[in-house]
This record gives sequence, C-alpha cells and structure tokens, in this order.
Amino acid sequence: METFGCQMNEHDSEKVAGVLLARGYKQVETPDAAKVILYNTCSIREKAAQKVFSRLGELRPGERTGECRVPSGGKNPGEDRRFSAEAAGQERRGYRDTSASGNDSCAASDAQPGMAVRDGRPASEGPYKEINQRKLVNAGGGKIIGVLGCVAQQEGEEIFERAPWVSLVCGSASYRKLPQLIAELEAGNRRVTGLDTKTDETFETEITRRDNPFRAYLTIIEGCDKACSYCVVPFTRGPERSRSSASILDEVRQLAEMGYSEVQLLGQTVNSYADPGARKMRFSELLVAVAEVPRIRRVRFTTSHPRDFGKDIVDAIEAYPAICDHVHLPVQSGSTAVLRAMARTYSREEYLQKIALMKAAKRAISITTDIIVGFPGETEKDFQETLRLMDEVQYDSAFCFKYSPRPNTPSLTMEDALPEEEKSRRLAILLERQREIQRAKNEKLVGQVLEVLVDGKSKKAGQWSGHTTSNKVVNFSSQAENILGDYVQVKVISATPNSLIGEMAAAHSDW
Ligand code: SAM
Ligand code: SF4
Repeated sequence: METFGCQMNEHDSEKVAGVLLARGYKQVETPDAAKVILYNTCSIREKAAQKVFSRLGELRPGERTGECRVPSGGKNPGEDRRFSAEAAGQERRGYRDTSASGNDSCAASDAQPGMAVRDGRPASEGPYKEINQRKLVNAGGGKIIGVLGCVAQQEGEEIFERAPWVSLVCGSASYRKLPQLIAELEAGNRRVTGLDTKTDETFETEITRRDNPFRAYLTIIEGCDKACSYCVVPFTRGPERSRSSASILDEVRQLAEMGYSEVQLLGQTVNSYADPGARKMRFSELLVAVAEVPRIRRVRFTTSHPRDFGKDIVDAIEAYPAICDHVHLPVQSGSTAVLRAMARTYSREEYLQKIALMKAAKRAISITTDIIVGFPGETEKDFQETLRLMDEVQYDSAFCFKYSPRPNTPSLTMEDALPEEEKSRRLAILLERQREIQRAKNEKLVGQVLEVLVDGKSKKAGQWSGHTTSNKVVNFSSQAENILGDYVQVKVISATPNSLIGEMAAAHSDW
C-alpha cells in the first residue's frame, strides 16, 4: 500500500490496512511478494494525480510473462509507506520502536515475511481465513491492484480504461464497503467499484494499523461542505459527516491504554465538527474532553477553517496545557477580492480578527497556514497583499502552492489564468519571505528550554529529534540510552528556518 497526499489519506490507509488485517491478510516485505497492491491517492493538485498514473504504468502486465512489474517504491523514505506488520504488532502492545522516526517509518527491515498480525498475535494463533490464492489472480496478471481515495473518486471507472490491470476502484466516502468489495474480488469478480459519495457514514474500523508509534491520528469529521472554487475535496470526499463524541472518546481512552500520550484529531475542516451523538459537544468541548482523558498529554487538531474558528477554541487552548499551542489556519490569499473569487467565506479583515484572538491569548500560540498563489485574476496588487498579510501574521510555517486547475471545480473555467512562469515567480518570492520570517522566529527561541516529545533517533550516536507542543522540530544531543517516546526538556542552542538545534537539559518525569 502506498499513500499519497494529506494526513487524512495517511490515516485512511492505516484504517484500510486494519480492514485487510481483520480479513486475515498478511503483510509482505516487497511489492513483488504482494498479491494485493493498493494506492491511496490524492488529486488536490494535478501533479499528485499524475503520479498515481505513472505508478500504475509501472504495474502494466509484462507482455511475455503475464506478470506485473512492480515499482521499487517511493523516491525517498517518506514517500514509501508500505505495510509493516511488525510495526503493527509493536503499537498494539504500546511498544516504542527504537528505529522508526514517526510518520516516515517504512517497512521494517527485519519483519518476518508473511507474518499476519491481529490484536498483536501472529496469524498462526488467530482464527484466520485461508485466502484462496488462485482466486486472487486477477486483472493485474497475478495481483489485485486497487486505486483508492481522491483519484479513484474523480476518475471512477475510467481508471479501468486507462489501466485495465486495475481491479478495485474505491473513493474514500465508500471505504465502509471495502470488506464487501474485497470479498467480491476474492470470490473471483474481476472489477469492483465503490464510488458513491451520498453517504452519512464515517469510516470506522475494528482495527487500525497505526504507523506512528508516538502520535495517534483520529478522523473526527469526514468530507467537506464548504465549496472553495478551486478545490476537489467536496467532490472526492463527499459531504461533512462527524463521528459521535462518545465513539471518539472511547477510542482516545483505548489509545491511552495502548501507551499513546499524543493524539491528533483530523478533518478537512476539523473545527466544523458537529457531534451527531446525544451529547452534542461543540468542537472546543470535544478538545477539552480529549485533553481530560487520563494519560493524554498532547492533543493536536488540523485543519481548522477560519469561518468556524472562534474564541472558544482559543479559550480551551489557554485553559488546558494538554491542548497543543498550535493552530493551522489556512488563509489561501491576503486579498479580499481573491478570497471572494475562491469562495472562502471570509474577508482579509475577518481572517485577521481570528489571528488577533490567538495573539491576544496569554499562552503563545504557534500559527501555520496554507497559501495559493496565481489564482485566476490574482493581480500584482493582490499578491502584494498576501505578502503584507504574511508580514503581519508572522506565521511559524506555511505550505505554499501554485494554483492548479482541477476538474469539476468552478475556478476551472474562470478567466485570466496566470502563466506558469508568473505563478512560479510569485511562489519563489513567497517562499523566500516565509523562510526569513521562520528564521527570525526560530532565532528568538535560542536560549529557551522547551519540552520535546522524542520521536526520532539519528544514526549518529547521541543525536535525537522530536516535536514541541507548537509542532516545531527539535534536533538535539543527549547521551541518554533510550529516550524515544519520552518527554524531555531541551535547551535551544541555535536555529534554522525549519528546525531548532539543542541539547537535552533534563529528562521529564512529572507525570
Ligand atoms: N480544508 C483545508 C482548508 O480549508 O484550508 C484544506 C485542505 S486541502 C487538502 C490542503 C490545501 O491544498 C489547501 O489549503 C490549499 O491551499 C491547497 N489546494 C487545494 N486545492 C488546490 C488547487 N486547486 N491548487 C493549488 N492548491 C490547492
Ligand atoms: Fe477544500 Fe475549501 Fe473544503 Fe478546505 S474548506 S477541503 S479548501 S473545499
């Protein structure tokens, strides 16, 4: 399984892996050895969607052998998110890995080939179904090849035309149907699809195979009801559906039992959460309830939509140190005219009022954002307004994108498209400005002692890395033997635009 795109896709893949584990599937170490290959795809920008078709091309059945050629995986370790049964077993037992570095851990090199894991037990101990290997031989010349996620939803059955060796096409709004779709493939069906977005269901699974041993992700709201004129998400992920607060809190308690102390609540517009359960919790009340779960020490949430961001969320952050002092609040543009064309539902001034709420908080809140440059009709003056807004807000980090025209979106047919070179020019200016802001902000932290959750160990002896509550990356030295998963105090000794460098001041043990 290879995952492209956002954190929500990453977490969907963890749940899809759980569905497969529950059906008795085993992890194998290489795509060569796999009978099932799944791509969880992203179509937010054109490049991301193209990548999927190039991966599928690599799987075209060879003319002479009838076998699939298999790709070697992503170009860098972070891209290659293959299934790791060993990691699954470890996190189920609350085990702290000594080699993985958070999100980017890929297939563990010493995993036992073919070992399936269910509830932490090897397959041989569990009630596993024998999978009929013969029936798994499918359109892919010996493998089931599936396309999941946003490209699946967007391209639908056309994927079968472009890549006839694909046998499963399923959008994220239909993941609840995955066990049934897989059963149909196992029964010999050649092609199955799950493409319905008219649903009020969320994707909850009995097992989630978690890749990150230090931070557990939970989707609390799926889909999106906003209608930003450039965005495919409402088409590919369907309408907003929230999970009940009771079910979310049950899972958080289980995660705490398993040893997780940090959880991150996910949603395309996480703060538009609307509890369908009897308790009718507001998003800020849910944050507090999660923060109050015993042993939970850090609660993160992303992505917040400015329209639904209010003082109650800032008050919750101020009152509960366990709620991380970091808010990702995408602005997209600093120009009200462009924001209107984007249908973002707020003006520059309204956005800045939300920022002012955070700046007024007693506890410093780190603010990050997303920005699109080169939206149709964006003038030089509009662009300068975005730069001025960046100067005013002083973001801790920003994801900056060139506008990419997407199918089905209203902005696709808007006039005054900007030439690619102009978009690139504006993007380069934006990135440089943000880099300088980050350098200056990070330099101000030199000399401070910050609490870090240690989530990585360098190959170089005595070098570790981790995240602060404000989600800053800290690389630091310590002669301690094994501090992975611990909260430690680190003194910052220098800074770069993207990270802090420090030395451990003290191991933290007051909880
Ligand atoms: N729901 C979030 C919000 O409203 O801010 C964002 C989710 S989207 C998956 C992540 C980011 O991708 C957006 O904030 C936007 O900056 C960027 N994005 C979405 N559509 C885009 C497009 N057509 N071209 C360029 N960037 C795009
Ligand atoms: Fe896309 Fe807008 Fe929804 Fe975010 S809020 S997912 S940008 S439509």
